[in-house]
This record gives sequence, C-alpha cells and structure tokens, in this order.
Amino acid sequence: MEKIQILGVPIDKVDMKEALNRATNAIESNRKYFIVTPNSEIVVEANKNEELLNIIKDADLVVPDGIGLVIGSKIIGKPLSERVTGIDLMEQLLKYANKNFKSIYLIGGKEGIAFDAGINIKKKYPNITVAGTHHGYFSGIHTGKPGHSEEEEVIEHITHADADMVFVALGALKQERFISTYMNRINGRLFMGVGGSLDVYSGAVKRAPKVYQNLGIEWLYRLIKEPFRIKRMMSLPVFLINVLIKKERPM
Ligand code: UDP
Repeated sequence: MEKIQILGVPIDKVDMKEALNRATNAIESNRKYFIVTPNSEIVVEANKNEELLNIIKDADLVVPDGIGLVIGSKIIGKPLSERVTGIDLMEQLLKYANKNFKSIYLIGGKEGIAFDAGINIKKKYPNITVAGTHHGYFSGIHTGKPGHSEEEEVIEHITHADADMVFVALGALKQERFISTYMNRINGRLFMGVGGSLDVYSGAVKRAPKVYQNLGIEWLYRLIKEPFRIKRMMSLPVFLINVLIKKERPM
C-alpha cells in the first residue's frame, strides 16, 4: 500500500473511493481499524511531537484532510490525487452503514452534541443503529493530564454498545490518543477521529457552503466565522515553507 512522506509524516496515497474501500473491507472482515485524518496543521505538529507521529505511523489508514497536503504532495513530486476530508469520509461511511444496517457510536463535543448528532444521523440514515453517544468532556489520559479518570466508565459504555464504527470527536491528538490507547481493549471495529464533525451533524455548527468546499477553502469560511483560529491557521503557510525547505535540502 503506497504511502508518501510529508515532513516525515506518512500519508496513504488514496482517494475517497480507495479510502472507503479499505475501511469497509476492514469492517466486513471484522478487523480493528484506526483512521487518522491529518491536515497540514497536524502534520506540522507531528513533525515536532513524537507521540503524535508514532500514533499516525501506527494507524491503519492516514488520509490527507486538506488542500495543504495536496499542494505539499505536488511540491515534493508525489502528487496526491485529491483531499479526503474527515467529514466527507465519515459521511461516506454513514452511507455504507445505512446500506448495510451497521451500528455506530458517537463520542465527543459538549453535552448533548453527540446525542443530537445521533438523532440527525438516524433521521437521514434510518437503517443505522445509533448504539450509543457520550459527550467529550471527561478526565483521563487522552487529555495528557494524569489524575482521576472518568475514562473507564466511558470505555465501559462504548464496549457495551459494541458498534461497527466508533466516531471520536475530542479534537486532534486527544481523539487519536484515546483511540490508540483503548481500541484494542474496547469493542468496536472501525475507529476514527472526526474533530468538529459531530458539531456539524448536531446542527450546532454549519459547514462551509459548497463553493468554499469545492475550492478547497473551507478554512477561509471557518476563519471568517471564528477569527480566533487565525493563529492555528498560520500553520498552513508554515507547513508549505517547511515542505519547500525540506525539498531543497532533503534530509
Ligand atoms: N472536544 C471534546 N473534548 C475536549 C476537547 C474538545 O469533546 O476535551 C470537542 C469539541 O467540543 C469539538 C471537537 O472536540 O466538538 C473538536 O474540537 P476543535 O475544533 O477544537 O478541534 P480540532 O478538530 O480543530 O482539532
């Protein structure tokens, strides 16, 4: 399976169709399967953070979530054909789940977000079983802070639900840390970190209009809506500059 390395981070050379194929094959064959959806910000972070890099290296599928990675891949001469955003892949997985009567578990977001997302998904995809939901604010090692852990209860809840797909929306790194630490202990087949997607499915946050999506500039829409993200978004130029520098001076 072909991977490319961007700033030392392995990304699977897949388009949406291939990503979906691999993920659904894993579900059909009852294999545990961990999907990570890094964007350029996460790649910059993983380049500095060994824990995150190792989690990405161990994942079963790493899809390029964002136009930055597609541009970066072209700069290094190993072009990815398209971006595969986490929320689009989640939507495709839900379509598959609806067609095949699969079950899902949703965890993450503020109180009520995962629950509302579950209601909306069920309305849209009536053949899906929403096996359980849980909010994303509990203590545990996913937060990176030691101390009293409510995580055990959450793990118990997910295990009991025994879902085909577990979508985890705790924000980058926390969600990946949570999945990689616990996925072998808890029931469930496919595990995927989905960032802010439950906020969108719940209706609390609106996704960028199609025109922004098609142009690959959803980040601009998000920036207009949430200007405080400017600092995090500066990682896109930082990312591109780093890719260019590395290309000129390969290590
Ligand atoms: N979130 C959570 N628990 C946390 C931190 C964040 O459930 O401890 C949720 C947050 O409410 C949001 C989602 O994780 O629904 C994604 O957060 P954010 O957009 O900050 O992360 P990103 O995906 O941009 O890294």
